[in-house]
Amino acid sequence: MILRSIRFRLTLWYALTLAVVLTASSLFWYIALSSNMLSHIDERLLDVARVIEKEHLSAHADIPNKQACTDLDNYIIGHNWAGYAQVRNNLGNLICTINSIDGIPLPLSTSALLQITKKLPYYEIDYEISTSAVRILSYPITTKDRLVRILQVAEKLDSMEHTLSDLRFIFLMLSPFALLTLTCCGWFLANQALAPVIQITESARQITAENLNARLPIHEPQDELSSLSDTINSMLARLEESFNRVMQFSADASHELRTPLAILKGETEVSLRWAKSEEELRQTLESNLEEINLMSRILEDLLVLAKSEAKDLHLDIEEFSLSDLLQDIYIHAKTLAEPKQHLIHLRLQVDSEIHLWGDQIQLYRMLLNIINNSIKYTRPGGIIELSLQVEKNEVIITVQDSGVGIPKEHLTHIFDRFYRVDAARNREDGGTGLGLSIVKAIIMAHGGTIDVASVVGEGTTFTITLPLNKQNVRPHNSPDIDKPPTND
Ligand code: ADP
Repeated sequence: MILRSIRFRLTLWYALTLAVVLTASSLFWYIALSSNMLSHIDERLLDVARVIEKEHLSAHADIPNKQACTDLDNYIIGHNWAGYAQVRNNLGNLICTINSIDGIPLPLSTSALLQITKKLPYYEIDYEISTSAVRILSYPITTKDRLVRILQVAEKLDSMEHTLSDLRFIFLMLSPFALLTLTCCGWFLANQALAPVIQITESARQITAENLNARLPIHEPQDELSSLSDTINSMLARLEESFNRVMQFSADASHELRTPLAILKGETEVSLRWAKSEEELRQTLESNLEEINLMSRILEDLLVLAKSEAKDLHLDIEEFSLSDLLQDIYIHAKTLAEPKQHLIHLRLQVDSEIHLWGDQIQLYRMLLNIINNSIKYTRPGGIIELSLQVEKNEVIITVQDSGVGIPKEHLTHIFDRFYRVDAARNREDGGTGLGLSIVKAIIMAHGGTIDVASVVGEGTTFTITLPLNKQNVRPHNSPDIDKPPTND
C-alpha cells in the first residue's frame, strides 16, 4: 500500500533526482579539479624546460654532451627543483639523467619522438617507472631550426593523486549520507504537503446520503488543495440539491397519491363486499377511473416540474403568431366557460400582429391553466378578460377575473407545488395544486415573469411578461412534455 502512495513515489523520484544531481556534480568537480591540477603541473614543466633551454642548453647547443649534462645538473641544484630531467640526443638516445626515479630513465614513447621530430613539445603520463604516475614533458632543443637534443622533464603526480583520492573519499562518504538526509527531509515534506489530502479523504469518507449537508474543511492558505475542497464542496451542494429534489418529489408524489389510492382501495373493497348489481359495480369502476385519471395527472405534472427544476424541460422554440394563439385560447375559453355562463373578453391592445419566439404548445398550456383557474374560481356569470400589450422588447399578457380572489397571505405561495388555498374545495374541482407551478416553470423557461394581484371578493389578475427577442428565450436540451394540456 505504502509503495503505491503518492508520498512514496514523490520521495522516490526526489531521491533518484538527487542521486543523479549529486553524482553528476561530484563527477564534474572531480574532473575539473584533476584537469586543473594537471594543467598547473604542465605549465610548471614547460616553464622549467624553457628556462633550461634558454639559459643552459640552447646557447651552447653544440657544446659536448658532458658539459650539457653538467649545466643541467647545475640548473636543477641551483633552482632546488624536485623534478626529474634528462637529455637525449636528436635520435632519442639517452645522454644523461639528472635526478632519475630509482635509477630508471624517463621513457620516450614513439608518439613523443614523432612529435619531437616536428619540433613540438609532448606531454605523457607514465605509470610504470614509479609507484605513482609520472608526468613527462619531452621538449625539443633546436638551433637554427635543427633538432639537436631532446630535453625531458618530469614530476611525480603523487600529491595530485593524494588530493584526488581525498576528494574521492569525501564524495563517496558524504554523498550517501547527504542523499539519505535529504531523502528523509523529502519524505517529511511530502508528508506535510499531503496531510491535508489525507484529511480531505477522511472527511469525504464520512459523507453519506444521511449527512449530505456536511462539507469538507477549507484549509488556509488558499492553495490548490483548498480549491479542491471548494470544488468538492460545490459538487456536494449540487448533489444535495438534486438529492433533496428527488426526496421532495417522492414525498410529494406519495403524499398526493395516498388520498386517491385510499379512495380507490376503499371503494373497491366496499363494492366487492356489498355490491349487489352490475350497475353498482359499474359506478364503482367509473369512480375508480376518475381517481386513476387524477393520479396519472399528478404524476405527469410532477414529472414536468422535476424536469423543469433539473433544467431539463424541453422547449421547441419557433416563431409563431401570438395574436393567433390568443384567439385560439379565447375560443377555447368560451367553450369551457359556457356551463358557468362567464363573459370572456379578448383585448388586443396592439396595432399589428405580434410574433413571438417560444414553444407554442407550452405557452398555450400555460395560458389555458390560468384561464381555467379563473373560470373555476369565479362564481357563475363572472367576467374574465384576456388582454395583450407590447412594451419595449416585451409582451405583457394579463388574465383578469371577477372571481373569489386570493387572500393576501396565500399570494406568495400559490406558485408552490400542491399549494391550494382551500384544499377541500380544490379537490372537489379536480385540481392537483400543481397547475400554477407548471405555469411558472414554463414562463421561466421562456425567460419571462409572472405576477399576481388579487382582492378577495373582487377578483384576481395574473400578469405575464415574455421577451419578444429570440436570444432571451432559454431553451432546454432534452425531450420532455409534448402532450397537450390535461389538468385543470
Ligand atoms: P389547482 O389545481 O388547485 O387549481 P393551482 O396551482 O392551479 O392548483 O392553483 C393554486 C391555488 O391558487 C388554487 O388552489 C387556488 O386556491 C388559487 N387560485 C389560482 N388561480 C386562482 C384564481 N384565478 N382565483 C382565485 N384563486 C386562484
